[in-house]
Amino acid sequence: MATVVLRNLSKFYSNHVNAVRNVNLEVSDKEFVVLVGPSGCGKSTTLRMVAGLEEISEGEILIDNLIVNDVPAKNRDIAMVFQNYALYPHMTVYENLAFGLKLRRYPKKEIERRVHEAAEILGLIHSNMLKRKPKELSGGERQRVAVGRAIVRKPKVFLFDEPLSNLDAKLRVQMRMELQRLHNRLQSTMIYVTHDQVEALTLGDRIVVMKSGTIQQTSDPVNIYENPANKFVAGFIGSPPMNFLNGKIAKQNGDYFFQDKGIRLRLLPQHHSKISPYKNQDVIFGIRPEDIYDKIFAQDARPEFTITATVDMVEPMGSEIYLYLNAGTNNFVARVTNQDTATVNQDLQIVFDMSKAHFFDPKTEAAIF
Ligand code: ADP
Repeated sequence: MATVVLRNLSKFYSNHVNAVRNVNLEVSDKEFVVLVGPSGCGKSTTLRMVAGLEEISEGEILIDNLIVNDVPAKNRDIAMVFQNYALYPHMTVYENLAFGLKLRRYPKKEIERRVHEAAEILGLIHSNMLKRKPKELSGGERQRVAVGRAIVRKPKVFLFDEPLSNLDAKLRVQMRMELQRLHNRLQSTMIYVTHDQVEALTLGDRIVVMKSGTIQQTSDPVNIYENPANKFVAGFIGSPPMNFLNGKIAKQNGDYFFQDKGIRLRLLPQHHSKISPYKNQDVIFGIRPEDIYDKIFAQDARPEFTITATVDMVEPMGSEIYLYLNAGTNNFVARVTNQDTATVNQDLQIVFDMSKAHFFDPKTEAAIF
């Protein structure tokens, strides 16, 4: 059992940087929680406070219901994996894996057993890998050793601080799958920090999106993607990012429309009650690139969901094409099939799936729905 609770957690650095602001989070036993957000949003600071590497300015951290604010890092039963591996260059892989256990005076036999078990889990057993020095390893192998050093400790909680960001794209994808497998196998509580929203979506049971030291939203990956709480989360999660169009809400004959120069789209009845307070007011319309279609490929597209847009740029991506479009003063991207033959400067009939529409308040940027 290992739960981690952050209660009204804040961090002020001595230079008055308020790096973490009143963060509240409950991580359940065996859960894989990912903290994600742009560089400088306070992810690492949060994780380092959990690890005991950074003093807590305000609030509490509880591990298994015990307040650990004053418990030193080495007594928290937590293992942390860093981006830069932090391996000892003069030691072999075996010695690197064994080091933490030796320090804690584990019996030799037990160290041997745990090192071999970890090496086996991580595929480091073959070709004398255990006898090599870090400089004789690839980036991916080094990262595996760094993870192995955490595994041998059998900690209550694993903390990962951007562990894959030094790896190339292909290796990152592979290591992502290995970490997933590792979590399934070890069934341990894990907290993982990344600025990469794809990593967050693929790894997390739950995702915590942060900005400027505050939590913006905490939810499972699908819900974060489908129901972002605000414009920041909507724009941060998903690639290419959600489009944001500026315009007004108009009401006519019982129907609501989003409109701006060259754009008029009818809202669906299920959205009427939430949008009605915005009648005749500015709103931000959010729509993901995959929810916009070239009319040629859209089944029974209705005129009230269709506008004319000009193609600014065409970006072929292999399996699909990104069309950069313009209507009035709004620009947006559509992710369409690679069979689309649209060309630059062409006027296209573009269909919006209004069941996937998001609207945001322009002042608070909170989601209206
Ligand atoms: P992230 O991990 O999301 O990139 P960090 O937690 O590293 O963000 O940093 C959050 C904020 O705190 C940033 O503005 C950063 O410059 C600042 N910061 C981080 N570490 C220190 C430090 N040791 N002293 C002063 N400011 C720091």
